[in-house]
Amino acid sequence: MSGPCLFCRIVAREIPADIVHEGERLLAFRDLNPQAPVHVLVIPKEHVGSLAHVGDPARDVLGELLLAVRDLAAAEGIAETGYRTVVNTGRNGGQTVGHLHVHLLGGRALEWPPG
Ligand code: AMP
Ligand code: ZN
Repeated sequence: MSGPCLFCRIVAREIPADIVHEGERLLAFRDLNPQAPVHVLVIPKEHVGSLAHVGDPARDVLGELLLAVRDLAAAEGIAETGYRTVVNTGRNGGQTVGHLHVHLLGGRALEWPPG
């Protein structure tokens, strides 16, 4: 299917999502298939395909994404117990949605290293 990507359609409210935070440039919503009690995705509202596609003019959004993760972790009550922040990039990184997103996972102990 052509046209806006899945996460762009969530930004446009064309697809429903459980949105937990909206800022000027970022949107955060719960993952449809959560891998932990807390599993939130944080995305830039403006389409960027992946971390590999972030150009220097968009660099500030990277800091904003991580600061949003920090604040959401506190809001979700997992700042003290800890959490994992993941950015899957490309085929070997296991990226399945082609719009940059940061996973925030917590609420249970997470294994390391990943498979
Ligand atoms: P990644 O594998 O890093 O590309 O992560 C994509 C994530 O998006 C997966 O964890 C999916 O469960 C999640 N996902 C896919 N479709 C939706 C949706 N419509 N709403 C919320 N999360 C979704
Ligand atoms: Zn997009």
